[in-house]
Amino acid sequence: MSSPVPVPVSPATLADFFAGRHIPAYCVADVRTIRAPAGRHPRDILPSCRTIIIFAIVMPDRLFFGTEREQSEATNAIRNTLESTAYSLRDLLEREGSASVAVVPFHQFVVQDGILRGRLSLKHCAADAGFGILGDNSLLIHPRYGNRLALAAAVTEQEIEPGPLQAGTATCTHCNRCTDACPAGAIRCGVVTQTSCRNLTDYVPHPLRPLAWRMMRGTWSARLVTVLLNMTASRVEIRGTCTACMTACPHFKIPER
Ligand code: SF4
Ligand code: SF4
Repeated sequence: MSSPVPVPVSPATLADFFAGRHIPAYCVADVRTIRAPAGRHPRDILPSCRTIIIFAIVMPDRLFFGTEREQSEATNAIRNTLESTAYSLRDLLEREGSASVAVVPFHQFVVQDGILRGRLSLKHCAADAGFGILGDNSLLIHPRYGNRLALAAAVTEQEIEPGPLQAGTATCTHCNRCTDACPAGAIRCGVVTQTSCRNLTDYVPHPLRPLAWRMMRGTWSARLVTVLLNMTASRVEIRGTCTACMTACPHFKIPER
């Protein structure tokens, strides 16, 4: 028996899908436009993929200005929304007969060259897809929602028309406000040193850091760290995070909250 012929998901179906889930921003891109390095390209997740669909929700004020408990609740709520949407999107694409994979933040980590990264760099993919640009603090700046977007994606072997076009343009003015605001001095000349960033150091007890950083740089030990992280990441409660380089940026202020 021959396999069913995939039915392309139309732009209108995608628009309805995201509107129904109150997802404010998304874009569809041909994976040939994604310049991610080998090992972290969408094709490393799904070799036959042709399209990446990136979507985002706006991070609420309480994530930045709430108590630690409110920040933690907001982060977990964002994680739940992104995960449920990404898995529903994958299911929608697979129902139409195309192999697809959901890509969510907070897990699917890989440690490479001493740096902890997502299995797929959603923000780099988003920038390549024309969804915004990367600022000196390494965060995505979207023309409408500034640096307030939390991203997830699905990759699929289905060929889907790219779009929609993002209205306006975003720019990093290299104003250095993010560099000046960083309490850890982790940003220098547009590069963020991850092992100085509090969003990593806060999770690694001080006495263990030299060993942890060394393990992240070794070939085999980095693989071990990757396996351990991916086994435990979904069970780790995300605590309040440092957002100083976000809130200091002029692109933090967006017209709609
Ligand atoms: S604070 Fe200034 S330098 Fe930093 S990302 Fe924003 S616009 Fe760019
Ligand atoms: S998240 Fe905090 S510690 Fe990390 S680079 Fe930004 S301001 Fe610095």
